[in-house]
Parts: sequence; C-alpha cells; structure tokens
Amino acid sequence: MKNLIIECAKRYDADLVGFAPASRFDKEDPIFKIFPQTKTVIGLGFRVLRGIYRGIEEGTTYYQYTTMAVENLEETVMPLALINVANLVEEEGFDAIPQRKSPLILNEEGTTNPEVDYTDVIHGVKVENQIDFLNCAVQCGLGEKSMIGSLLTKDYGPFIRYCFILTDAEIEPTPLFTEKLCDGCGECIKACPGGAISSEGELDTWRCAVYYNGANGSKNPFMPPEAFADFVDRMEIINGTAQFDVEKAKEILNNIYFYPPAKHSYRASICGRACDRACYIHLEQKGVLGKSFNKKFRENEDWKLSTTQFETGKREKEWEFSNKT
Ligand code: SF4
Ligand code: SF4
Repeated sequence: MKNLIIECAKRYDADLVGFAPASRFDKEDPIFKIFPQTKTVIGLGFRVLRGIYRGIEEGTTYYQYTTMAVENLEETVMPLALINVANLVEEEGFDAIPQRKSPLILNEEGTTNPEVDYTDVIHGVKVENQIDFLNCAVQCGLGEKSMIGSLLTKDYGPFIRYCFILTDAEIEPTPLFTEKLCDGCGECIKACPGGAISSEGELDTWRCAVYYNGANGSKNPFMPPEAFADFVDRMEIINGTAQFDVEKAKEILNNIYFYPPAKHSYRASICGRACDRACYIHLEQKGVLGKSFNKKFRENEDWKLSTTQFETGKREKEWEFSNKT
C-alpha cells in the first residue's frame, strides 16, 4: 500500500510523501485524541513554486503569492491530494482521517495568524482539534524544524506547505530527516521588514501580521502617502521600528489594507515571506538544496523604496517600480 499511496499523492501534486509510525509521538499527542487507533501519520508536502515568490522578490506582482501559494494550495491542491489518498487508504479497508490546518483556529492564546484577518481567529478551542502540524512534518521525515520554527526541506528549503492523514494502517516508516540545514545564520531575522523575529528566533505573531500585511512603506508599493495619518508614530510604523502591543497592532491592522484580500479571506502578503526568501537564498548560496535552478533566485541587491513621500504626504515621482532603490 505504501507505494500506491506515494504514487497517488504524487499524481495529485504532492512533492514529498512521508510516513511516521505512532511510536514517534508522545502518548498525549493530539493525534491520539483525534484518532486513538492511529498507527501511522501520512505526511504530504507541496512545494511553493519558486516563481510564485518572484513577483514580490522583484516588486512587480503581488497577488500571485497569496492566491497560488497560500489560497489555492491550501484550499484546492492540498485537499484534492488528501481526499484521493484517504480514499485509497479506505479502499484498502483502513480508516483515513485527513488533517488540514485551519488558518482560523489557533492553539496558543494571545497569538494571531498573519495570513488571515485577526478578527476571524478563534482561540481556546480544545488543543486536540488541531494536530501539531510542524511536529508531524518532522516526524514524517519531510524536513527539519529551523531555529525560527519553519520547516526546511532538502529540495525546496522553506518553500513548502503540508498536510496529513491519520490512519490505523501500519505502513513502513520514512527515516527522520537528519541533515542539518539551518545553521543559525540569522538571515531570516535580518530580512523581516518589521523585526518580527527575535535574535533567539522567536516570532511575534502580531508584529508579523502587521508587517506581513505591508506596514513597512519601503516594501509596500501600494501604500498611499497619507497612510497611518492618525498615528503619532506613523513614520516608525512605516520604517518598521515602532514598538506596539497587541491592541495597537490591531489598530494598525485596521488601517493597513491597501490591497484586497483573496477570495477565501486570505490577506494579501506584502512582505512576501521575506524571512523564507532570505533563508532560501542562504541555503541556495551554500549549495545545500537538492533541487537546483539555472539561475540564482536573487542575483542583485534586494530593492527598497524611499519613504520620503510619507514625510511630505505627496506621492513622488520616484515611487515607481522602475525607480526602486
Ligand atoms: S535563514 Fe534559514 S538557515 Fe539561516 S537561521 Fe534562518 S531558518 Fe536557519
Ligand atoms: S518576513 Fe513577513 S512573514 Fe516573515 S516574520 Fe517578517 S512579517 Fe512575518
């Protein structure tokens, strides 16, 4: 059955397939609360096309990342693979419980998900309603947990999304991924336009939400000159250096939407996951990625727009893509 599952998953666009035996999980793990008979967790990994990041990398097109890398992968491609692999497992007489991540249910109190509107997020739902997706990916041998809590895979680095199936079928396990890709270089931390990741690699999800959604004026071509007019520290917000608590993060977010969301309410990513792009560039430069391309992902200095227009309140001529600095 293992080979049939791999073949089916790949036919439905999974790039990585891994199998974790129940013995790799703590007895209290949510997988056993959801399905106590779990014998195997089947992990499916889907690459985020390098070209989808290209638009934000170049500052030329923004919608593609949100719709193709987040919305369509999560809402179309991944469910299709999940349902087909689950059907196959059930055809063989075993139960198959698909596990898609809800972007709106968060286990940790006081956090948010930058990919969605914070007002839609719900906390306090019992933890067993959501498995630990990152841990499952690691236990399925899909990759390594980096110092900032992203999944790093051999072929695609951090450009990956994943989902799972719990089953009572016993399937030969995939070895754990033992290569050390994350070397603690800190490029991801430096790349964030809002300083949302601490030097220890801890993510402030509210800061991330504010800057994922585009609060840094030097990296947001859609921000009007009068942005954040009611904020006394508007230039600090725009420069990515403002200090704020959760309530103020919400206020900033209420004033930030200069670009429409995608159909399933995913917020447009304006930072374009700069942290992941920087990581990918670093891994590519080190030559540790399994999949190579004819050209490097980034060949020149990263671009940055002048923020003078926010001081003058007038859109300047230089505020053109062709004049990015
Ligand atoms: S850029 Fe990548 S390799 Fe470097 S510290 Fe961050 S996650 Fe690790
Ligand atoms: S680069 Fe974007 S996604 Fe990464 S931590 Fe910063 S705001 Fe969040």
